[in-house]
Amino acid sequence: MKNVYNKYNENDITKMTLLTEDYKKFLNDGKTERECVEEIIKRIEAQGFKNLNEYILENKEITPGSKIYVNNMNKAIALFIIGTDKITNGMNILGAHIDSPRLDLKATPLYEESELAYLDTHYYGGIKKYQWVSLPLALHGVIIKKDGTKINVKIGEDVNDPVLGITDLLPHLADEQMKKTASKVIDGEDLDILIGSRPLIIKDKEEKDLVKANILNILKEKYAIEEDDFLSSELEIVPAGQARDFGLDKSMIMAYGQDDRVCAYTSLSAFLNSKATSKTLSCILVDKEEIGSVGATGMYSSFYKNAITEICILMNEVLPNATNRVLQNSKMLSSDVNAAYDPLYATYMDKRSASYLNKGLVFCKYTGSRGKNGSNDANCEYLAKLRKIMDDNDVSFQISELGKVDIGGGGTIAYILANQNVEVVDCGVGILNMHAPWEISAKADIYEAYKGYIAFLENA
Ligand code: MN
Ligand code: MN
Repeated sequence: MKNVYNKYNENDITKMTLLTEDYKKFLNDGKTERECVEEIIKRIEAQGFKNLNEYILENKEITPGSKIYVNNMNKAIALFIIGTDKITNGMNILGAHIDSPRLDLKATPLYEESELAYLDTHYYGGIKKYQWVSLPLALHGVIIKKDGTKINVKIGEDVNDPVLGITDLLPHLADEQMKKTASKVIDGEDLDILIGSRPLIIKDKEEKDLVKANILNILKEKYAIEEDDFLSSELEIVPAGQARDFGLDKSMIMAYGQDDRVCAYTSLSAFLNSKATSKTLSCILVDKEEIGSVGATGMYSSFYKNAITEICILMNEVLPNATNRVLQNSKMLSSDVNAAYDPLYATYMDKRSASYLNKGLVFCKYTGSRGKNGSNDANCEYLAKLRKIMDDNDVSFQISELGKVDIGGGGTIAYILANQNVEVVDCGVGILNMHAPWEISAKADIYEAYKGYIAFLENA
C-alpha cells in the first residue's frame, strides 16, 4: 500500500486541487444539515434536476435520462439519474450523512445569571465536551414563527460578525477541576454559550435581567423575533470560521463537520460528474446519523423507499414488489469517515488494520464494536467485485477497521440499507481528530474517494 503521491503527475495534482478547493467552499456553505441540503439543491438544479413532486403532481412519465431529487424536510435529500435499464434491475447507490456533532440550543435557551446572558444547549452526537470551551463559536439555524415565516440565522461567520463561546476555568483555580476525569471536566449541562454582558439602561427604573432584555432587543431588531419564537427553532452552535489548508505543504484540510461531509461532498460530486450508464444511479445524503439514524430525516425513515415506489409507478413498473426488487438488486457504497492512523495515539489502533492518510479510499468490511456488534458485515463476493473496479480504474484503496478490537467502535448507515437486502459495504475517507470541533482530512484521499465513487457508479 503505497502513498498515493507516488503515482500522481502534475495533472492529478491540478485536478485534486480544483476538487478540494470546491470541497472547502462546500464546507463553508454547509455547516448544518439544512444548509447542506440548500447548497446541494442549488448545485443540482443548475444541472437540470427536478423535484419528484413535480413529476407526481403532473403525473409526468419518468424516462431514461430523467434527473430527479427528493427533498425530505430540508434536512435529507435523495437524487436519481434514471438509466436505460429497468429500474427493477437495481441501482448503483452512494450514501453518506450530512449531520455533524454540535451543540443544539434548548427550546427555552435564553437566561441571565450575574448580569451575563447565556444560551442553554444540549449537545448532539458524540463529543468530547472539554474540546468545546474557549473556542470561537457560531450560531446557525432557523426560527419558524407562528405564522410560518422562516428566519435564517447565521451569526459568527462574517468577519464583521461577533463570535460566541463557552468559558473555561483559569488554571490558577483549576486544581480540583483537573483531578476530574476528562468526561467530567466540563459537565454537559454547563455547555452554555455566553452571548452578552451589556444591560439595557432604562432611566430611573430598576428592573432585573436587563442584559437578557438587551439581547432580546437586538434579536427583535435583527430578526423580528420574540423570546417565545425559540420554541419553534432549530439553532445549532458550531465552530466559527472557514475550512483551511492544513500543514506547511498544504496537503491536508482542517475544517468543522468533515464527518461526514467529506463523504457527502465526494459522493455528490462523483454522482454529478459520472458518465450515464444503463443503470439508474442514486445518491442519498441523510440527517441524524450521529444520533442513530432515527426520525423522519434519518436513514431509518421510509422516505427513500417511498421515493423509489413513486418513481417505479411513474416508470410503469407497477408490480407490487417493484420497490423491493429495486432495492435487492441494488449495490451501494455507504460512506462515512474512518479513523486514520495517528502515531500520537498508536496504542488505540492496530497498525496492520488501520487506515492511513494519503493511502486512498478506505473500505471497511465491518464496523460495529465488541465482537462486530451492530455491524453490516459486507459480503466478500461484493468486495472482490469492488477490488477489481478500483484496480481497473487506478483508484488507490485500503481496507481498515476502526481501532483495536474491544477499544470501542462506531456505526454508520450501511446496515440500514443492508436490512433492505441492498448489497452494501462501508467505505469513506480516513481523517484525524474525528468528532473534534476541527477535523483533519488529506486532499489526496478526497480525490481518490471521488475517483472511486465515479468508478463504482459507472462499473458496478
Ligand atoms: Mn459519520
Ligand atoms: Mn460521526
